[in-house]
Amino acid sequence: MSLDNRPVYTGGCQCGAVRFRVEGALGDASVCHCRMCQKASGNFYLPLVSVRGATLDWTRGEPKRFRSSNAAWRGFCAECGTPLTFETPDGVALAIAAFDDPTGIAPTIQWGVEAKLPYVDGIPKLPSEETMGDVSSAPYLAELVSYQHPDHDTDQWPPEEKP
Ligand SMILES: [Zn+2]
Ligand SMILES: [Zn+2]
Repeated sequence: MSLDNRPVYTGGCQCGAVRFRVEGALGDASVCHCRMCQKASGNFYLPLVSVRGATLDWTRGEPKRFRSSNAAWRGFCAECGTPLTFETPDGVALAIAAFDDPTGIAPTIQWGVEAKLPYVDGIPKLPSEETMGDVSSAPYLAELVSYQHPDHDTDQWPPEEKP
């Protein structure tokens, strides 16, 4: 919370070169299945939350932007590629999973369902394993060292020497 009790959210890209801070209430949270959101995220659909009613600040770096149409720009980290924004004349939306704590930002609507991939609805029914569920078939996991930026603001970027 900020001094006047407005909620504060932070987040950023995977490598930490780009960090953001949002102060104020978040707007609509959604997923978009349209073909452009699939491409921009490299994924089946793109989860976004509007910040048009809040104050968005880039606290480290700033996204590089690709103009995906005459009406929209897609922001992403130029260092690591994490998709970060969808920007139109009526406001900016941020990628939900780029927030440090995305757990409370639940989508309430799906857009672009004409392009929804035919297997998306079946994913929750697939067999499920935790990351370490079969460490014997991927032994490198046992000694994995993450280079991902932590889920909180840090004083320094780039981080110290990687092991
Ligand atoms: Zn990055
Ligand atoms: Zn879309």
